[in-house]
Amino acid sequence: MGRIFNFSAGPATLPLEVLEQARAELLDWQGRGASVMEISHRSKAFVSMAAEAEADVRELLAIPEDYAVLFLQGGATQQFAQIPLNLSAPGQTVDHLITGQWSKKATAEARVLRQVNIVADGAARKYTDVPDRASWKLTPGAAYVHYCPNETIGGVEIHEVPEVGGVPLVADMSSTILSRPVEVRKFGLIYAGAQKNFGPAGLVLVIVRRDLLDRAPENVPTILRYSAQAREGSMLNTPATFSWYIAGLVFKWLKRQGGLSRMAEINGRKAEKLYRAIDDSGFYRNPVAPAYRSWMNVPFTLPSEELNAPFLKEAENAGLAELKGHRSVGGMRASIYNAMPEAGVDALISFMSDFAGRHG
Ligand SMILES: *Cc1c(COP(=O)(O)O)cnc(C)c1O
Repeated sequence: MGRIFNFSAGPATLPLEVLEQARAELLDWQGRGASVMEISHRSKAFVSMAAEAEADVRELLAIPEDYAVLFLQGGATQQFAQIPLNLSAPGQTVDHLITGQWSKKATAEARVLRQVNIVADGAARKYTDVPDRASWKLTPGAAYVHYCPNETIGGVEIHEVPEVGGVPLVADMSSTILSRPVEVRKFGLIYAGAQKNFGPAGLVLVIVRRDLLDRAPENVPTILRYSAQAREGSMLNTPATFSWYIAGLVFKWLKRQGGLSRMAEINGRKAEKLYRAIDDSGFYRNPVAPAYRSWMNVPFTLPSEELNAPFLKEAENAGLAELKGHRSVGGMRASIYNAMPEAGVDALISFMSDFAGRHG
């Protein structure tokens, strides 16, 4: 069986070259007669691989020196708790923008720990749009402002970094990180689970401005403390070694592609042609306001629910997999992360056009 075009939202497709290299190195990594996941994370070889991965991601994202880069566990979801624990004290208010299901989940978890102010909520327009910046109600002196630049489920992306007046901006970039250059300097903290755009599950990248590391109140458990992880090179305990290694290979792959400006060019083009095919079809529909359409996750519906099953089945037969939309939204969703080749998007568009021709 050959490789399919895998449109899964996450865990998602990885670059073929990366998988091939991992396969080649699986039994014998760097001539050690063992795989990378069978050696000590304290070994010189692993520590040096880990440092190289960090250096590569720093280079890709142009991360300034005064930001720490952490390779943690627990997924993005654990960050929903770890962020309020570390960046705010009990009694402080944290600001949250809600633009879809992930920012809503982050808000619910923050509420367990802190007083949360909802800056704005896109519910009225069913999260197909983002409330105007002018309508946001920021708390003066909030510990930080949290938002989700790309809502993986609704396919809503905020393409400009919002201005929040000096309060640290915290961003859940799980499904958009490394898809384009980003001005790290504008953020207090960026976090992203690996399994959407740069590796296997089990790893979450946290990029945090160093002056925020000391904000954590005394009662934060050591294992959840950013400052402790930063001090120990994210090796307070055994890290997700294999995921870290694969992430490192993906970073090298991204550098070979020409870095993030090049990825932005390709990703922009992939998204643009898919949305155009949807809009021009008179058959498929994407509900998101054009200014907020995601480059990474493209939900679309068919004219009737009855067509969903045949669409998925025929797509699968054509080698186009994992197109079923999230259970809460229905319809379809094509996730077209970095590792989805443009040829995969072209094949999807051509299949969609053919399907619409036969069922329209
Ligand atoms: C997938 C996802 C999460 C959850 O990630 P886990 O690693 O499963 O905790 C959080 N936020 C966004 C934007 C996501 O896409």
